[in-house]
Amino acid sequence: MNLKLYNTLNRKLEEFRPQNPENVKIYTCGPTVYARAHIGNLCSYVYWDLLVAVLKLNGLRPNRILNFTDVGHLTSDGDTGEDKLEKGAKRENKSVWEVAEHYEELFMGDYNSLLLDMPAKICKATDYIEADKQMIDVLTGKGYTYETDDGIYFDTSKFEKYADFARLDLDHLRAGARVGFNDEKRNVSDFALWKFIQPGEDHAMRWEYRGREGYPGWHIECSVISHEELGEPLDIHCGGIDHIPVHHTNEIAQTEAAYGVKMCNYWLHCNFITIDGQKVSKSLGNTYSLNDLLERGFLPLDFKMWVLQGHYQGERNFSFEDLAAAKARRRNWQNKIALCLQREEGALNMEFCEGLLARLNDNLNSAEAFALIDNSELSLDDWRMIEKVFKLGLFDFRQPTDGQLEKIQLRNEARRNKDFVMADRLRDELLGDGFSLLDTGDGSFWQLS
Ligand code: AMP
Ligand code: ZN
Repeated sequence: MNLKLYNTLNRKLEEFRPQNPENVKIYTCGPTVYARAHIGNLCSYVYWDLLVAVLKLNGLRPNRILNFTDVGHLTSDGDTGEDKLEKGAKRENKSVWEVAEHYEELFMGDYNSLLLDMPAKICKATDYIEADKQMIDVLTGKGYTYETDDGIYFDTSKFEKYADFARLDLDHLRAGARVGFNDEKRNVSDFALWKFIQPGEDHAMRWEYRGREGYPGWHIECSVISHEELGEPLDIHCGGIDHIPVHHTNEIAQTEAAYGVKMCNYWLHCNFITIDGQKVSKSLGNTYSLNDLLERGFLPLDFKMWVLQGHYQGERNFSFEDLAAAKARRRNWQNKIALCLQREEGALNMEFCEGLLARLNDNLNSAEAFALIDNSELSLDDWRMIEKVFKLGLFDFRQPTDGQLEKIQLRNEARRNKDFVMADRLRDELLGDGFSLLDTGDGSFWQLS
């Protein structure tokens, strides 16, 4: 396999070796469905869709699962704060179930408008509550848990490799534990597998377990869903870099302690984007959704173009100027396709195809792949292949009607007859219809203006 991926497990670029080429098991951590996804969230789904496309280009059959976190994700990753779903329900005066359903629908709308392939299965955390309890029972049977008044915790001191994945400095963490740290925990890095609802606590989603009402901690769902749906070891597990020190570290601890197997062979993490040099945050008012972009005249696919023209591990800054440049680049590609359509040029350029694959196989370097596309002479078949891989809606543009094509002919005739007044008038009319004209040595061609 020529595909190389950066594996967080070893902090190295490694050749990708699937266990079974016919069933490449991929688990992608999905959204917490309590608010509309912002453009930072959406980046990750674009990158992992590219991963799937590149695996397919290499002749593999990806089997990818995505989860929806519809319970148990607290506002702080350190087991404190409110449950995000409950918070959303209060904010919107809806039930938690309605909130989850509403944002699941919005997420799928965003997902589809970015032309991303559907995962093999989307799993809701609330459909796996019984399986959560079973896994917690297994962990308890093996001595990895302890119970307090407020929940059931994973004792990280019992899992020797706990600090390895994120290269955590546990002494430093201990020293840095501040006031407000959940003092029910034995060790600062311990985390809740299950939370008990306290008397008077307003928590609508609740299940009975060990004689009390409660709900699962955030991390358990990913260990449980990946175990139930795919089985260990997974080939690839993906998420954002924020998942390395807590969420994925805890997933590994749970799964490997419970089942005594390696959880996953390759871990991929995408970097966070900043917006105008600042982190994405509600207080800065920059949590743009695809709708906000639309209101400023940008299509979801213009945004996808912006995402893919960078590298998933790069430190990237989003700005509307750069989005406008990405939009222009997409339009430029569409105009190259329009020229190919008019010239009826076909046939794949094998050298280009190999070059494109080589760049994508170099740790999904879509930025370099895009540069190659810009700098190559491409045929219609090449563009079809590009569209198949990146799904940018490149062929989705309006072509001139018969009437407009006639106008182009008349304008060209007028130009040949040196009737420039007529030629200019027709050209302006066409411009009003959204088409410009490109005059070259081998004829005049329409372009999207
Ligand atoms: P959440 O819905 O909060 O669980 O987040 C969904 C995904 O978005 C996670 O994989 C995060 O790593 C990712 N994410 C959140 N903020 C950003 C950002 N600014 N840039 C890139 N990814 C982000
Ligand atoms: Zn997860």
